[in-house]
Amino acid sequence: MSVRESITPSEARAIIQREVAPLGSERVALPEALGRVLCESVVAPRNLPPADNSAMDGYALRASDVAGADSQAPVDLPIAFEIPAGVEPEQTLQSGNSARILTGAFVPAGADCVIRQEDVERIGDRIRVKRPVPHYDNIRRAGEDVGRGDEVLSAGKRLGPGEIGMLASLGRTIIAVHQRPRVAIVSGGDELVEPDGDVSGGRIVSSNSYSLAAQCMEIGAEPVYLGIARDTPEDIEEHFRTAMRADVIVSSAGVSVGDRDHVRSVLEKLGCSLLFWGVRMKPGYPLAFGRFEREAGPLVFGLPGNPVSAMVTFEQFVRPALLAMMGSRNLYRATVRARLTEPLTKTAGRLHFVRVHLERDGGVMTAHSTGNQSSGALRSMTLAQGLLIFPADETELSEGQEVEVQVIDPDFLASSQSGF
Ligand code: AMP
Ligand code: MG
Repeated sequence: MSVRESITPSEARAIIQREVAPLGSERVALPEALGRVLCESVVAPRNLPPADNSAMDGYALRASDVAGADSQAPVDLPIAFEIPAGVEPEQTLQSGNSARILTGAFVPAGADCVIRQEDVERIGDRIRVKRPVPHYDNIRRAGEDVGRGDEVLSAGKRLGPGEIGMLASLGRTIIAVHQRPRVAIVSGGDELVEPDGDVSGGRIVSSNSYSLAAQCMEIGAEPVYLGIARDTPEDIEEHFRTAMRADVIVSSAGVSVGDRDHVRSVLEKLGCSLLFWGVRMKPGYPLAFGRFEREAGPLVFGLPGNPVSAMVTFEQFVRPALLAMMGSRNLYRATVRARLTEPLTKTAGRLHFVRVHLERDGGVMTAHSTGNQSSGALRSMTLAQGLLIFPADETELSEGQEVEVQVIDPDFLASSQSGF
């Protein structure tokens, strides 16, 4: 297959999505299932609630016994028995009687409503009722929440706290979820050192190793850090041979066509076919994508070395691929419409992802550039809440114009106000 060069971001996305498929399932204990994606549909094996039960502390009775009750003609009902929560009522309530009942306790046969204890007068072992009670008042009906046989959760659902609680209620302690991809992270460059390394003499910290691993972890994928490869074919090959056991390889730097960029030839030697090289976007043009031909070989993303380019290309292409492998339905960040507070210009030809501050002022959302948009200026990623999509063919966005922004900082949607 020939390598496609200089394609658009949407072509790149389409090529990648054709290559990804959800990983198989694994069984995990319920508490570990948080954030994972269900592999199976969950059908309720029982009703929730399992039987009619009381929503209040009070008295179970027959509505027909008090149908004519008012303050002039109160009805007195003896308390025939008591039903605590968690105990199956053995007796049937006979007409003209009541039963003491606590919240959650099963309503006895013969009763069809519950009156709150605040609404009766207790006189020794009788209650005095001064008003009618509607049928099923204060009774939570069997199966009103979930009926036996209902499909409660469907395959592809991401499990949050509510789903975890529901699975617990249904008695499920082991859940089949999609596996999480193992992502081998390889950083290449003679100038790179670990964060505690010596940065004299033109060396720099391999920050990509950390930012890319964090981007994996943010969505629940499992990064495997394989360290720094020197700019020699031998060292790069050694790193990629180890990386080939992963589900996905994410390498940064060295996929351009410079003299010292050996990654492409090493990958080809190891049996990886490149599907594309070069995406018409900024930051992040020198992006490569390929796959190993052998069965179940990993997908390979060769990201640019510049720290912002690496993160932005991960955002646009690696993240959705990993989410698809994890079985997620929603692969993309939420976008918002925001009003630009300053004009922006560029040349036509490439789609720009502009790092922007987002602000909410009442119902109005505004966006302005974080400043330095250099692909090496990592600080822009710490300042940005969003990536503004500046379309390839546009050259000018004016002040006040509505623009589309991907929200990359989930905290942006959080608030310092309670809302009530
Ligand atoms: P390259 O693709 O090797 O030409 O790298 C482009 C730029 O990204 C250079 O300034 C590199 O020093 C920088 N760079 C490459 N790899 C990393 C990394 N792992 N962490 C931080 N910066 C990097
Ligand atoms: Mg390099």
